[in-house]
Order: sequence, then C-alpha cells, then structure tokens
Amino acid sequence: EFRYGEHSEVVVPTLNGSITFGQNHPLVIVAGPCSVENEEMIIETALRVRGAGAHFLRGGAYKPRTSPYAFQGHGESALSLLAKARLASGLGIITEVMDTSDLDKVAEVADVVQIGARNMQNFSLLKKVGATAKPVLLKRGLSATIEEWLMAAEYILAAGNPNVILCERGIRSFDRQYTRNTLDISAIPVLRSLTHLPIMIDPSHATGKAEYVPTMAMAAVAAGVDSLMIEVHPNPAKALSDGPQSLTVEGFEKFMQEMSPLGRFF
Ligand code: PEP
Ligand code: MN
Repeated sequence: EFRYGEHSEVVVPTLNGSITFGQNHPLVIVAGPCSVENEEMIIETALRVRGAGAHFLRGGAYKPRTSPYAFQGHGESALSLLAKARLASGLGIITEVMDTSDLDKVAEVADVVQIGARNMQNFSLLKKVGATAKPVLLKRGLSATIEEWLMAAEYILAAGNPNVILCERGIRSFDRQYTRNTLDISAIPVLRSLTHLPIMIDPSHATGKAEYVPTMAMAAVAAGVDSLMIEVHPNPAKALSDGPQSLTVEGFEKFMQEMSPLGRFF
C-alpha cells in the first residue's frame, strides 16, 4: 500500500510571495519556452506571460533531446538568464535538472526543479532531490504506468521531501501521426483517488501541436487539475526546440482570457 505524506498541497515561496499548488487553491499557471535561448527572449516572455496571469516561468537550460545532434540547451549560462528573468518578473522559476551533479546550481535558480519524463526512474536523481526541501515537479515517464510513476514519487517522499507535484505530459500510444503523445486525462481522477499530491497537466508535450493545446488544457481544468504547464515562445517558427507545440505570446494571452470563466483563478 502507498503511504503518502500528509501534504496535499505544495507551497512554493517566490520573490512575489508564496504560490500554492493543491486542490483548494487557484489553478497555477506555468508558462514559457521549451528552451532558454537568449536574454531578450526569456525576459520578454517572462514579462508577457506574467502580464497574462502566469505564476511561474518555465524554460530549459539542460535539455533531454532524443538526438545528440539536436540543441542540448545552453546549460549554466541559461541558468543565469533564468535568474535575471526571475528578478525582472518576480515569477517563480521551473527548470529541469538532468544530472545529480547539476542539482546544486539548478536549485540555486529554480523555485521548483523539474524531473523530466526521460528521468522519471533515474533513482539516484530522485533520491538526491528527495534529500533537499526544494519542490519537485515529477513528469510522467514516456510509457510509465501510474504505479511506476507513484513509486518514483515515493522515492522523493521516502527520502524526506514532501513537496512533489505530479505532471502528466502524455504517454506513448500507437498513433503518433496527429498527436505527439496521448494525453491521459483519466490520470487526473485516478491520481485523486490514490494520492494527495498536486496534479499538473502539460498539454504542450502531450499533443505536440499548438492548435490542440487550449482544448486539452480546458479538458484538464474540467477534470479538476491543479496546475497547467504551457509552452510559450515569442517566435515559435524560430524556436530551437518544440516550436510546433508552442503558443505565441499573443496566443497565450488569448488562451488565458478564454480560460478565466472556467474558474479557480484569482
Ligand atoms: C520539457 O518540459 O521541456 C520536457 C522536455 O518535457 P518532457 O520531459 O515531458 O518530455
Ligand atoms: Mn519542450
């Protein structure tokens, strides 16, 4: 039997006060580019998504790319750009850690550290973030069952860190022609019945196509999700990673307006 911590909410202190992920709190919106590309784009995106109502800025410094020849992220220099964007916008920062040896420097900048789908069962990484008090966003593995995912979360909890948020980002199915992955909406009620941990949906990686992102985000809200992660890029056509699934800044603004009547906003 699973034994979870008492926490049914994750409180994240940010420069602008605390943001709480959890069932009885407003929907938490995380937005930003797949990768941190340069200073101008990350600051501009941060300010614009904040203006539209986002609470966190996402942006990758270390990117887990399928091909070793694809853009791998700007690493440490991207972390310092995230630190600048954090100061300039007051937004909380969410960025991925891929390697145990990078955790200290990532945790210096990140208000929440992300463990990506490809590292969901990187047990040394799970144990290491578990030994800190830093909030952790644990994405579901590409083909992970709910039980494998919850057990991965359990590694973090068992190591002493109760601050875990679960993020469904689409799973492998048989048809990849029209969507990149298949968003498992049923994960929301299933997780609700199994765990107290807050639940996030990432419709960007789930669909792989910007045009489907708002619909799936709304479906997730209807199913009672606690948080959404949306990829946003000032010029998706020129993005160094995940352009096709990224909303433009204007698209994100429109999306936030359309979402607001659905409730659980401030
Ligand atoms: C990401 O959030 O940019 C990412 C790489 O996601 P995932 O691990 O879900 O593929
Ligand atoms: Mn991405």
